Amino acid sequence: MDILLILQNENKTKEKIIQTKMRKLLHLEDILSNMENKCRICMEKEVNRLFLPCKHLASCDECVVFLKFCHICRSTISTVVSVLYCADRDAVLHPPHISSLGYKL
Ligand SMILES: [Zn+2]
Ligand SMILES: [Zn+2]
Repeated sequence: MDILLILQNENKTKEKIIQTKMRKLLHLEDILSNMENKCRICMEKEVNRLFLPCKHLASCDECVVFLKFCHICRSTISTVVSVLYCADRDAVLHPPHISSLGYKL
């Protein structure tokens, strides 16, 4: 086989691998940005208000005052629950490795 042809084929295979990896990275970025839990209305503050009865967590304390209906499912909001996060968000997204916590495995 012509050496040039072999090299071209090799390049094509590598290109495909890179493209697949790029796609996976973009997908992960999507997941991470969704985990940020920004308020869907102002897109600035962290969501901290839960609507009942639909249980959607999708607004911050500032935007919730303008809402009568859940903007995700359109159901009437009967109660607004204030949500507190139990841990620092960074600690949730980047938890320390178990070995750094001093546990003996
Ligand atoms: Zn907001
Ligand atoms: Zn809802």
